[in-house]
Amino acid sequence: MILDVDNLTIRFPFGRELRPVVRGVSFQVAPGEILGVVGESGCGKSITNLAVLGLLPPGAQVTADRFALCGQDLLAVGRRDWPTVRGSKVAMIFQNPMSALNPSLTIGTQLIESVRKADPALGRRQREARAIELLEQVGIGAAALRLKSYPHELSGGMAQRAMIAMALASRPALLIADEPTTALDVTIQAQILDLLDRLRRDNGMSVILVSHDIGVVQQYADRIQVMYSGEIVETGPIGQVTQTPSHPYTRALLQSLPGRVGARPKTPLVTIRGMVPPIELAIEGCRFASRCDRAEAQCQDRPPVARRTADSWVRCHL
Ligand code: SF4
Ligand code: MG
Repeated sequence: MILDVDNLTIRFPFGRELRPVVRGVSFQVAPGEILGVVGESGCGKSITNLAVLGLLPPGAQVTADRFALCGQDLLAVGRRDWPTVRGSKVAMIFQNPMSALNPSLTIGTQLIESVRKADPALGRRQREARAIELLEQVGIGAAALRLKSYPHELSGGMAQRAMIAMALASRPALLIADEPTTALDVTIQAQILDLLDRLRRDNGMSVILVSHDIGVVQQYADRIQVMYSGEIVETGPIGQVTQTPSHPYTRALLQSLPGRVGARPKTPLVTIRGMVPPIELAIEGCRFASRCDRAEAQCQDRPPVARRTADSWVRCHL
């Protein structure tokens, strides 16, 4: 397994106490696989990934029965060693590429710096050649010229491609893409997602694709993980979960998709009533109960335990 997570809990300081914000999540990412992670904002998707990257804010506490990236125990990585982990095993791209690029430096300067960090032994010419190769890999034409461009001279889609090139410089085993296309036009979105799909096939890289849009994940992911208020409520192969969802929250997310499969034209979109409870709030029963149209008395009283089958599980009393 590239990423192996068992019973991961993340606590943040609130005043003088530590409260769980991600509660006992377990999942795995296989080589070359795209794991799609969905859920509304405030469900703990990004926090979980920041833990994998060693980028949680100071004061956060991480516990787990197992938390390993390419066999390395992430619980044992000290503050000083995280840059090495990020520079070799895992890389990330974010929602807004423009804010992640330095506006005052050319793409070439920034990309060549990523190459230098990843391969310190390369000479100046070799670094430049590698940078050009990376731009070509992500589909940026006239790469040698593009090295001289500043971020403001690139479109949003180009800037995201440049970010992906920088992430690839270190040949990561795992790329975490957190809402990578949310800030882009629909046609550009598809191009970037197609690119990620091609890169994982060509390079054997695994991808965690985080999106609030289950439609995006449905199209690109091999497996899906549905998060709700700091927990994984359902996980499994993409076809199984999207065709026969077991958890009421997964069902609601699918019903809120425009143009969903099987929907009659003009069927009103279902929106999920209510809001995600604050992630740090202690709740006795099921965390989805206040919004669930199938909630029963037991749902308020005790938290549902995950029911597992071979490669899927669901956390619901029904
Ligand atoms: Fe709904 Fe109850 Fe299942 Fe929670 S446990 S999702 S409230 S049916
Ligand atoms: Mg997020």
